[in-house]
Amino acid sequence: MMNGKMDRRGFFATFVKMAGVAFIAPTVLNTVFGSEAHAQKKRGAAPEAAPAAKGGMPLLDPNDSVAKAVKYVADYKKAPEAKGNHCATCGFYGKKDATTGTCTIFAGKLVLADAWCASWNKKA
Ligand code: SF4
Repeated sequence: MMNGKMDRRGFFATFVKMAGVAFIAPTVLNTVFGSEAHAQKKRGAAPEAAPAAKGGMPLLDPNDSVAKAVKYVADYKKAPEAKGNHCATCGFYGKKDATTGTCTIFAGKLVLADAWCASWNKKA
């Protein structure tokens, strides 16, 4: 039979258990998931959500709103409108290495040498 005193004890016991779970659960979750992130970092693998980066500057995401507005494609061969033109032959392009470079339109991002967009302008 339950009386007021037993109910308080029961409540206190439940409270202590819940507090223990609230304290331990984040620690366990951090240990399980945090260790994987740490191992991934140690291996030098980029997190899945991070944009591809090269030399500290991220590659332009073709889904970027400005990229979409100028019909940017990573491979000019897949864009008939490009008519063989691509970033490497564009006046806005600044070669960084064999496959990437900067673009005046996309400051702070790298574009692919084989990419193309509707703002392509013949290199002088
Ligand atoms: S403006 Fe030129 S360099 Fe920039 S994304 Fe378009 S084609 Fe490539």
